[in-house]
Amino acid sequence: MRRPPAVPDLMISRTGAPPVAPGRRESWRRYAALARAVLRARRAAFDPFKLTWIVTERCSLRCSTCHLWARAPHQGPELECVERVLASNHQLTWLNLSGGDPVERCDAPELMGLVAREGRDLALLDFPTAGQDPSATLAALEPLLASPIPRIYVTVSLDGPDAVHDRIRRCAGAAARARQTFELLKGVRRPGFHVVVGMTLSADNLAGSLDDPRAVLPEGVPVDDLHLNIAHHSSHYYRNSSDVGPPPDAALRVVEHVRRRRRTRLSPLDLVEHRYWRHARRHLTDGDPGRSCGALRASVFLAADGRVYPCSIFDRPLGHIADVDYSLRRIGELNGAATTLDAVERRDCPRCWSPCEAFPTLLLGRR
Ligand code: SF4
Ligand code: SF4
Repeated sequence: MRRPPAVPDLMISRTGAPPVAPGRRESWRRYAALARAVLRARRAAFDPFKLTWIVTERCSLRCSTCHLWARAPHQGPELECVERVLASNHQLTWLNLSGGDPVERCDAPELMGLVAREGRDLALLDFPTAGQDPSATLAALEPLLASPIPRIYVTVSLDGPDAVHDRIRRCAGAAARARQTFELLKGVRRPGFHVVVGMTLSADNLAGSLDDPRAVLPEGVPVDDLHLNIAHHSSHYYRNSSDVGPPPDAALRVVEHVRRRRRTRLSPLDLVEHRYWRHARRHLTDGDPGRSCGALRASVFLAADGRVYPCSIFDRPLGHIADVDYSLRRIGELNGAATTLDAVERRDCPRCWSPCEAFPTLLLGRR
């Protein structure tokens, strides 16, 4: 097993003094930009404040819950395209760079550097990683840590005890490497930076009957560092099977177990997460979260090949981002955009509660 790299002094201070801190004034300017963007999205559609962007479908793992790897994975946009999207959308305040595994792009540090430079109003940036290369993860993170983006979240995926994770990922040692990456990133000290373990509850890590919820959780990960989500089916993105979701009763027991053991915090993110789980429980029980979705108002999804979709789940390609000169504010001009928005608002879509769309929906505050 490869040894994880040491965290460079530049990025860590075990004494607690951050070597790179976003200025308070700049942080508040960006939070205010986010608040204004949320208000704009409440007033009018097609002015999303959050973009979920698949910057590569490349991934070294072969999960049973996601089949991105099954066909030739798209490598993702060229840096020139990344620059054009960012330069055309300075209003973006929340960016989720996803994959595949974004850090497995060989130019991931350059890509993150572009984001740091061009995302002038970015208040929140998050990306997931399978955590298979601690050095690459750290290298990708470095330009972001040195940027004024006030909130940066990294989720390292771990879908249960090591043996379960390795079985789902179809790769021996995958869990151990993910743990190394998580531990490495836990050592990074920078205000506004957080790393969590992300566990996806699915049919592959939860059986119908569950004796002890503790037995299905990643070993040794404190519940405060653990974020749960629910596996979803998507024909255009994950290209996985439609029965990937977890058995509802078992999932509800795990969620309740974790909820009860978490420290009560009153940060805005924790309050939003609390509401997320209220609807997630309803989604698990009734198959519907019971509220309208903010896709195409609060958020939009950009596939690795540049195609625009309302979200990661609804298979309604609207066109290519180049068709609107890379401007997200013009996606309403794309063919079928208005009818797709109408379908979303009439709840005539697959009806999911995917966190990529659920969190911005909650900020939007619509019922
Ligand atoms: S779920 Fe994540 S780690 Fe697994 S194959 Fe898909 S992108 Fe890779
Ligand atoms: S409810 Fe789910 S499937 Fe429907 S538009 Fe929203 S995110 Fe997409």
